[in-house]
Amino acid sequence: MSDHHDHDHHHDNRYSDMQARVKALETVLTEKGLIDPAAIDAIVETYETRVGPRNGARVVARAWSDADFADWLRRDATAAIASLGYTGRQGEHMRAVFNTPDTHNLVVCTLCSCYPWSVLGLPPVWYKAPAYRSRAVIDPRGVLAEFGLHPPAETKIRVWDSTAELRYLVIPERPAGTEDLDEAALAGLVSRDAMIGTAIAGYPEAAR
Ligand code: FE
Repeated sequence: MSDHHDHDHHHDNRYSDMQARVKALETVLTEKGLIDPAAIDAIVETYETRVGPRNGARVVARAWSDADFADWLRRDATAAIASLGYTGRQGEHMRAVFNTPDTHNLVVCTLCSCYPWSVLGLPPVWYKAPAYRSRAVIDPRGVLAEFGLHPPAETKIRVWDSTAELRYLVIPERPAGTEDLDEAALAGLVSRDAMIGTAIAGYPEAAR
């Protein structure tokens, strides 16, 4: 446990060091003609926006389609998600937080960048940025507005602060008019940002 805690507090320095080392390696390998930076960008882009978040989208689509699964997800998200084959790499626990007409959920890691990799892949750059990490707690509505979201004044915004031990998956509300869609089609409506809480399902990602 203390190792995990330590990880939280020293994560940022190690990350900068890691970034510098990665950049140095990339530069040397590129100069030697061994790698193409564009190919690496394409791989990272794939994991950030496609492969990873598709796992979470399947979890959401199952929850929308199967009330028993949704109940299981509420009670024990770690087990319910693992039943679909998505398990954490560090043994972290998952909690699913469900959006309702009364409550919009938003996920952040204020200390560093804890993120549910098993269901969302790599975190987007903005999730790791100090501006998001500090402002999501102080001014969640301001942050949501920058993503193009304007929940009604009576909607409560709940902010969930991730740790190395506990990570959150937002279950967005199922969009109206999707009663006839099967699970695969439903999953197509669920973006990465909708599962972080900076978007809602069925809507295009906000420009940034
Ligand atoms: Fe973190």
